[in-house]
Amino acid sequence: MKGVLLTNHVLSGALIGALARRPAPAFAAGVASHFALDAVPHWGDWGSIRRFLQVAVPDGLISLGAMGTIAALAPAERRPAVLAGMIGAALPDVDKPSKLWFGFTPWPRAVDKFHQRIQPEASGRAHIELLAAACFGAAALAALRRPPARCAGPR
Ligand SMILES: [Zn+2]
Repeated sequence: MKGVLLTNHVLSGALIGALARRPAPAFAAGVASHFALDAVPHWGDWGSIRRFLQVAVPDGLISLGAMGTIAALAPAERRPAVLAGMIGAALPDVDKPSKLWFGFTPWPRAVDKFHQRIQPEASGRAHIELLAAACFGAAALAALRRPPARCAGPR
């Protein structure tokens, strides 16, 4: 069981959605961001499934809460892109709950192998992961608050 905290995938997906503004590119960039983030050194190496679940369960609940909060805060016209970015960024990790509850992953073997192999992880990196969450969250909210770009400036 490996991976960056789901919360960080969701928050970076929100930032992408806020910047991309259109759902399809936001979704595609969200998926790409998942693998890019997983390839960065991160927290992990749980040792036991129990330890993993002690982090993964609250992380899953927090990321769902973050998704709902950000979707609610996003201006209506930007909500579809923000949701698409968050869903795209979270989607590759569907294999984790699926494996735990149903015993299989929904992805092709090659994807699972790639997903496992790219991850450099170590214990004792919780602070990096929390700092990243704060940065992604703040950047996403800042991007959402910025008014949409206008074609013509004031004369
Ligand atoms: Zn992952």
